[in-house]
Amino acid sequence: MPVLWFSFSAATAIAYSILHFTSKRKKATVEFLFSIALIFAGIITALKLVWLKPVYFPLVISASVFYSWQSVVPLSFLIMLLRLKALFRNETFLEEIAFSASLLLTAVISSIILDRFRKGKGKDYTVLKTIKHAATAMPETDTESIDGNEAVSHYFSSMLKTEEEIKELLLAIKHAVFANSVNFFMLCQNSFMLRCSTEEKGDIIVTGKGIVAECFKTKKAFYSGEINEDISEIGYIKNNKVSSILAVPVMDGHALTGVLTADSSIYHAFSEPVRNTTQMFAAHLVRIIERERIYPKLKRDYDGLKILNEESSKLVSSLNLNVIAENLCEGAEKIASSYALFFMVSGKQFELIHHTRSISGNKTVFDLKGTFINIAVENRQPIYMADMKDYRASVLPFSAGNIRSIFVIPLIYESKLPGLFIMSSEKADFLDTFQIELLKVMCNQAATSIANAKLHTEIEKLATTDGLTGLFNHRVFQEKLSEELKKLSRYSEPSSLLLADIDFFKKINDTYGHPAGDFVLKEVSKIIREAIRDIDIPARYGGEEFAAILPRTDSKGAMNIAERLRKAVMSASFDIGIISPIRPIQVTLSIGVATTPSDAKTKEELIEKADHALYHAKHNGRNRSVLWSEIKN
Ligand code: GH3
Ligand code: MG
Ligand code: MG
Repeated sequence: MPVLWFSFSAATAIAYSILHFTSKRKKATVEFLFSIALIFAGIITALKLVWLKPVYFPLVISASVFYSWQSVVPLSFLIMLLRLKALFRNETFLEEIAFSASLLLTAVISSIILDRFRKGKGKDYTVLKTIKHAATAMPETDTESIDGNEAVSHYFSSMLKTEEEIKELLLAIKHAVFANSVNFFMLCQNSFMLRCSTEEKGDIIVTGKGIVAECFKTKKAFYSGEINEDISEIGYIKNNKVSSILAVPVMDGHALTGVLTADSSIYHAFSEPVRNTTQMFAAHLVRIIERERIYPKLKRDYDGLKILNEESSKLVSSLNLNVIAENLCEGAEKIASSYALFFMVSGKQFELIHHTRSISGNKTVFDLKGTFINIAVENRQPIYMADMKDYRASVLPFSAGNIRSIFVIPLIYESKLPGLFIMSSEKADFLDTFQIELLKVMCNQAATSIANAKLHTEIEKLATTDGLTGLFNHRVFQEKLSEELKKLSRYSEPSSLLLADIDFFKKINDTYGHPAGDFVLKEVSKIIREAIRDIDIPARYGGEEFAAILPRTDSKGAMNIAERLRKAVMSASFDIGIISPIRPIQVTLSIGVATTPSDAKTKEELIEKADHALYHAKHNGRNRSVLWSEIKN
């Protein structure tokens, strides 16, 4: 039986050992550990070598070197299990209990001690892992769950951690090459300065000479394992003795970024493989520094594009010239944080529509002749003057303080010049090429928006006014009257409507021709505009008929206005000399007036009553004003 037991445990151990050594999963396989325990138990049981029992103790201790407590503690239980037979024997019961308890205790204690030791060693590995993590720049967050903007700001904030990253890298080098301190020096004017160190601030004093200086000069790595501090100058002084030093140039292509040093108090501390490892780390350092250098530009470009995107959509969404000018100037100020102004071209003059700082005087329309900005107008090309120090003539058509540099962009749309955009600064060379390009794009956008706004205004005018007289057309008259009646119901005030018709107008056409008739219509419109008040709304009702909405006016007030108008037309004479040599012609008006709410409640009713009054005026001799309230009975 013991032989069978031994053979079985030996076979199991051999099988697991073969599996352990042939499998790819080499690292301390648990089955291998248990099979070793099994073979021990086999030997002890088969050969009855009870005195060999203490061998289990070194087995458990050595197992803790390779295995965690999760494997070692169960191992001690397995051993107890293998000794179950002895446990149930009366004479060995107490001995077995003591044995099992001390074995379990040994397993626990050795596991704790070795686990602590492993954790200490693991620190280097953790530092390396942190670097690897930092080198990927984007933290391992769930990128799908954060939106684009967040991802970008995340990216930029990770970039800001260069200082931490360099420090972590230096610490990793320190642990990897067993150095006392690792330092990174960068050039500063003619000397070098300590950029980052594994030592505390102030513990390293730079002398600016020696090995580090030489490394900066020659761009070659330097190593010495026998430093004698009395005669060798290493480039810095520290509290601890330096016996070995390794200085590695940190190269970005052919350009020298800095020098990395590792020092040790031990002689011949850095073997060749260690020196190669340091060189490898230096290459990583370059990437961090490179990123740090690119970061501000990248960030500014990104911010610029973001502003451009936001401001462009503002520019596109507005059809109001003032709003467009305001958005352009304010958007530009965000890009270049400087003084912006915008002129709108009106004929040969330039009207200042918007500016981001106050200017002297109230004048808004200027002639640009003789000013610097006029050069851009004449050439129809943007000009950027980085330094105006020697420019003696006037820059702007008004005084605007000290201008050291200026950027002028004429806005061009379909070869027309709708406006002029200017940015200036008290500082020299206030824009870089990227900002210039952004501003140009914004101005292009503004030029298109201004053209759209103008087109919109023109279309709106065409749709709302009568082409011949410039008065509101019939459609707008109807809308305005509806609006007026709505307001009226709110304030319970009277409003009146006046309808006027030129008497015997057909005769003018017939006698002097249609163009003469047109001329008369235009002139009468002018008189209507002058005769009524600013709050009144005149319109061409159709043909030779006109209307005027008289808000907050009762019949008496309306009659006064009607009479004023009638008399003004009657006394006017229209010179149609160019059409015919005959004397100036005169016309008269018949006017009907109705008032709401006294005469009518609805819009249709009001028009009908005014028309009725007009009809009455026509039938009672023309050239008169008639109130509906006077004829209704
Ligand atoms: P009444 O005193 O009764 O109003 O006589 P009237 O001749 O003014 O009235 P009628 O309705 O007979 O004629 C109006 C004329 O106005 C007819 C039309 O040719 C003319 N007319 C309408 N619109 C225009 C226009 O835009 N230009 C010109 N020149 N004439 C127009
Ligand atoms: Mg008529
Ligand atoms: Mg008429």
